[in-house]
Amino acid sequence: MKKVILIKYGELTTKKDNRNYFIKILKRNIFDKLSSFKFEIKEDYYRMFIYPNEEDIDKIISILKDIFGIHGIVIALMSEDTSLDNIKSISLDLMKDKDIKTFKVETNRSDKSYPIKSMDVSAKIGAHILKNTNYKVDVHNPNIHLFIEIRKDAVYIYNETIPGSGGYPVSALGRGLLMLSGGIDSPVAGYQIIKRGVELYYLYFESRPHTSIEARNKVISLARKLERYNSHGKLFVVNFTKIQETIYKNLDTDYLITIMRRMMYKIAERVAKRNKCLSIINGESVGQVASQTLSSMIAVNNVTNYPILRPLCSFDKLEIIDIAKKIDTYDISILPYEDCCTVFVPRHPVINPNLKHIYDEESKIDFEPLIKEAIDNIEIVDLKENKSDLL
Ligand code: ATP
Ligand code: MG
Repeated sequence: MKKVILIKYGELTTKKDNRNYFIKILKRNIFDKLSSFKFEIKEDYYRMFIYPNEEDIDKIISILKDIFGIHGIVIALMSEDTSLDNIKSISLDLMKDKDIKTFKVETNRSDKSYPIKSMDVSAKIGAHILKNTNYKVDVHNPNIHLFIEIRKDAVYIYNETIPGSGGYPVSALGRGLLMLSGGIDSPVAGYQIIKRGVELYYLYFESRPHTSIEARNKVISLARKLERYNSHGKLFVVNFTKIQETIYKNLDTDYLITIMRRMMYKIAERVAKRNKCLSIINGESVGQVASQTLSSMIAVNNVTNYPILRPLCSFDKLEIIDIAKKIDTYDISILPYEDCCTVFVPRHPVINPNLKHIYDEESKIDFEPLIKEAIDNIEIVDLKENKSDLL
């Protein structure tokens, strides 16, 4: 008898045609995240089985909990001896000395050639436990379940399922480019979209010397936090100073944020295309600030027809903060260093920007060479290098 980890796939079940592909990606992601451990994996259409060293199980479980595409995680006792007597003895070992009053046995036979029907296995094992303990059976509301899964090659016996993170395996749905600022929202937006199976690259606009190296380090730390869920992210840092100063000095300052964001989107689109990112993701949420009214979104979005995903568009700030705390980005996000948007803040940011006025303003400057220069000078930060104590 061995302890093995049994993985239940979540939502993958609803996507029949893609299922094998998703399982393959999930397996690759698990190998990737558990690369420092020794173990074997076997998978079939319904389950994945991880055979680890017993002393690594707790650490492995804590990593598996953050891998998307996993619905439930079980530590099961496995035995290749599927005889009823053996199942009886393992079940009793697992169930005895528990602080419970009631239980229920549930059996599942993927091996239909097994000579005893599932219901009968449950009844026989239940009777054996009843005889050897003080527990009672309660089929409606038991304190504990005993699950028995009989497969061709082995039987798996367990009590509880630890919830996984759900979602789809990262990268199964392609890659996206997250506009990552140092704020609370964009890391949460990133997390939500990784959960949908999209692998992320990150894009940060900085305006040094108006923004500090601490502000950049904050973004690097946030990206590294997201890498716990993501696969092989890269962080692109755009030097945005010239563009921002040009807008500030020459154009209607009430439109500063609108025009600045339009330039961000233009750059983001080109970076996304070059790096095979199929969408741009940001942390906008309807109505939070002037730049996030629906009419501002029209004005800003109008520079691109690339898909812009706003996973937080309907979230309340408090909901966003809860997730930020859960994924451990909140404490970094609230550090005080300014990001580039807060450095140049107009006194009366326009709430209903007028597109004609935007075009008139933008036509005063030839932005194309500035955009090209910014893209040519993008810096790529290695997120693997483990300087997690940057802040
Ligand atoms: P956040 O908390 O993510 O900073 P916010 O509530 O401060 O968001 P805005 O400043 O209006 O909102 O920014 C909206 C979104 O635009 C951000 O969530 C982020 O995705 C993107 N963004 C803003 N500033 C930057 C930046 N300097 N670099 C990259 N993306 C940015
Ligand atoms: Mg911000």
